[in-house]
Amino acid sequence: MEVQGMIIGGKFVTESGTGKYIDVINPATEEVIARVPAASEEQVDEAVQAAWKAFERWSRFSPFERARFLHKAAQLVEERAEEIGRILTAEEGKPLKEAVSEVKGSAEVLRYFAEAGKRVFGEIIPLDKANLQSIVIRQPIGVVAAITPWNYPVQLLAWKVAAALAAGCTVVAKPPSETPLSPLKFLACFLDAGLPEGAVNGVTGAGSVVGKSLILHPLVRKVSFTGSTEAGKKVMEYCAFGVKRVSLELGGQSPLIVCADADLEKAVKGGVRRSFRNMGQVCNSVNRIYVEKPIYETFVEKFVAETRKLRIGNGLTDPDVDLGPMVSLEALEKVKEHIEDAVRKGAKVLCGGKKPEGEQYAKGYFFEPTVVVDVTHDMLIMREETFGPAVGIMPFESLEEAIAWSNATRYGLAAYVYTSSLERARRICLGLECGNIGLNNVDVATIYAPYTGWKESGFGTDLGPEGILSYLEMKHIKVEFAD
Ligand code: NAD
Repeated sequence: MEVQGMIIGGKFVTESGTGKYIDVINPATEEVIARVPAASEEQVDEAVQAAWKAFERWSRFSPFERARFLHKAAQLVEERAEEIGRILTAEEGKPLKEAVSEVKGSAEVLRYFAEAGKRVFGEIIPLDKANLQSIVIRQPIGVVAAITPWNYPVQLLAWKVAAALAAGCTVVAKPPSETPLSPLKFLACFLDAGLPEGAVNGVTGAGSVVGKSLILHPLVRKVSFTGSTEAGKKVMEYCAFGVKRVSLELGGQSPLIVCADADLEKAVKGGVRRSFRNMGQVCNSVNRIYVEKPIYETFVEKFVAETRKLRIGNGLTDPDVDLGPMVSLEALEKVKEHIEDAVRKGAKVLCGGKKPEGEQYAKGYFFEPTVVVDVTHDMLIMREETFGPAVGIMPFESLEEAIAWSNATRYGLAAYVYTSSLERARRICLGLECGNIGLNNVDVATIYAPYTGWKESGFGTDLGPEGILSYLEMKHIKVEFAD
């Protein structure tokens, strides 16, 4: 069985310091496709030491020099998009065209931050005496630990690595154990782009072991984490020991509000896409839909019809499918549990709720996209992050009610609104407690604007002009002139 090497100090390391390896499984076939080492504490230390050493050189390059390396890496990522995309599909399950587009999008992230690095400015502040002046500059923090999840394993890593490198930081990445292969292939592009040895490292292993020792390492100055709220809380705890800078992009439980004056076709298409894309395994997936009473029945009917059109299959061998399998048996069990809980409490399943029928689904973690009605807010599907292809729909009578329901969650990542009324749009958008809102669209994450969570969905910013600031410290220099 092939062992995909970690990247430590510019070298591929296939041996495991612990002697243990982690199997990587293709969720469409349940076959083991490769293995990665479970790194030891010494290997984590080696990676951090390498990043620390490289920081001295990398941070002294001008942003223009760093940009040249990042553009070169972007070119390699783009050239290898098909190859990396195939690996991504094989380990995560999403259809190949989506995987390739994820990788290509990651090249674009590198280009964006390469240029953003050139636009990090300081400030000169006048003071109360003529011979005094305050100068504020920004400097790279140091070694960054980038810990990421499996649902967008290349893209989410790119958000962090690109911004950190552009800021002048160096990186030790800890990709997820479910999907470590495509992130390591992505990281290899930095080696091949000629970045100084150790500027980018990647270690693999369990989050609670390898992730923890990486965060606790005294030379790591900043932790950029994307993952579940539960793990995020632990990360925050570990960071407290060293008062480390930390950004947390965590879980979500996102509502979609559809007003009676909305473009119904658009709202249905958008809702289906955001509920089921990547099998609902997206942090900003729609989990619950509130539809204004007069259009409720029509919306539900059209939503179910649109859902039934989605084609499920092995995204590697059938390029035309819309949905692949779920990433793991554990993820699949959670969706089933949420649906069973809803049904037990009186909900009705209008479509899906089971494994698709047919020989081609005998193996693999396939599941039909599921629409549930007659839901209440004590059901898991309406309260917790299902992280799977199941959505609850319920009618609302007043905007206040829809806003209050939307906010009645510990999460605050994203929300979606469909309305043609400017006034209602304004009221809803101002009232929602979350970091990202899609108004008459469902694609809130864009490279060019900040992406952030409220409440237990985290804090700190990936992407946009603010994305790079997370990797910079401010320094105030108060200057006294002779006269
Ligand atoms: P997870 O929290 O289990 O794991 C994420 C990463 O953290 C993995 O690399 C894992 O190994 C590591 N990890 C786990 N426990 C750790 C610990 N104690 N210390 C250090 N590292 C640890 O999440 P997952 O199942 O891989 O991903 C799904 C979750 O990620 C969902 O909750 C989803 O909403 C969230 N997510 C959030 C965003 C966002 O931008 N807000 C984006 C994608 C996914």
